[in-house]
Amino acid sequence: MSDQERRAELERNLAAVRDRIARACEGAGRDPGELTLVAVTKFFPAADVDLLADLGITDIGENRDQEVSAKLRDVARRDDLRVHFIGQLQSKKAASVVRYADVVQSVDRPKLVHALESAAASAGRALDVLVQVNLDEARGRGGVAPEGAVELAGLVADSEHLRLRGVMAVAPLGADPAPAFAQLREVAGAVRDRQPDATWVSAGMSGDLEAAITHGATHLRVGSAILGTRQPHR
Ligand SMILES: *Cc1c(COP(=O)(O)O)cnc(C)c1O
Repeated sequence: MSDQERRAELERNLAAVRDRIARACEGAGRDPGELTLVAVTKFFPAADVDLLADLGITDIGENRDQEVSAKLRDVARRDDLRVHFIGQLQSKKAASVVRYADVVQSVDRPKLVHALESAAASAGRALDVLVQVNLDEARGRGGVAPEGAVELAGLVADSEHLRLRGVMAVAPLGADPAPAFAQLREVAGAVRDRQPDATWVSAGMSGDLEAAITHGATHLRVGSAILGTRQPHR
């Protein structure tokens, strides 16, 4: 596929996603301007990231430290992009992630809070953080239990170099996402009662962004609906 064909494909996909967002916002009585679209570019090359930046994307999501730190070196428009780390993160990788991530969305345990705080302190910078909430009792795909979210959020808020921004979750696989997103909204409210600046709710992916918008998401993490389901041939 040529660069031009790929650009046209991404442009089409992005238009379709923006259209879905607009319609869901209309249904929910919300302003699309309240929503940040995070394009999840994992598995896709730096060239796609640059094309997306040209098409107006300001935020990208990545989930594997090794892949993203190498990839970002090849992104020409790196400085125009906010990078969200959205994957499960080992504490020993905290220093590496702090080198490139603007936001870590997947903070789910005290040990990781401490590791990120000390890495951000060494780097002399502030890091935006979301507390990941596990809405899937059966599986536990990362995330603190809903009952533990307020306490963990407090620990982040008390960390000098971390800025608590809100909460994040992935809906349970193969189930109606609506009850899960409703639960996330309650957890987000409980966190915000104590930490008024924690206004972000990161929920909704390619398959369930409408339900997430209905239930108050502020950030959508959309991969396959924008980039396709497999690595393009080039
Ligand atoms: C891959 C991923 C996404 C994007 O999923 P799609 O279904 O491709 O839109 C969103 N959130 C997380 C945490 C992911 O790992």
